[in-house]
Amino acid sequence: MQHADCLFCKIAAGEIPSTKVFENEKVFAFKDLHPSASHHYLFIHKNHTRDVNDLVASEPLQLADLFSAIRLVTQREGLDQTGFRVVTNMGPHAGQTVFHTHFHILGGEPLRGFGSR
Ligand code: AMP
Ligand code: ZN
Repeated sequence: MQHADCLFCKIAAGEIPSTKVFENEKVFAFKDLHPSASHHYLFIHKNHTRDVNDLVASEPLQLADLFSAIRLVTQREGLDQTGFRVVTNMGPHAGQTVFHTHFHILGGEPLRGFGSR
């Protein structure tokens, strides 16, 4: 279900351009506009939820859809061989800026230590 005025719903619907790296009937994945690693992809479900806790409460099976797509793409790109990181930000302390649940995939080079204060 699309959510009014949601940037990522519009990207999944093709109403706002993106560099697509994967799509099936449930999941859409695209390159992050401001990459934090040489490979930086965002994976979203086509049915809108606002953050990971909302997703787990209302649509928990979306996790399998999303992580199946992550597996396919990381295998296709060889990132499963070199390693990659999955990140989801939830709420202000984590710096969530887009309120459509998304999983960042970071890889393609050695990643710095996780997190900062
Ligand atoms: P977060 O801060 O976890 O909510 O992540 C939002 C991410 O979306 C950031 O890494 C942004 O660089 C990325 N982003 C914002 N707008 C776009 C866009 N139009 N296309 C691709 N990535 C975007
Ligand atoms: Zn949305």
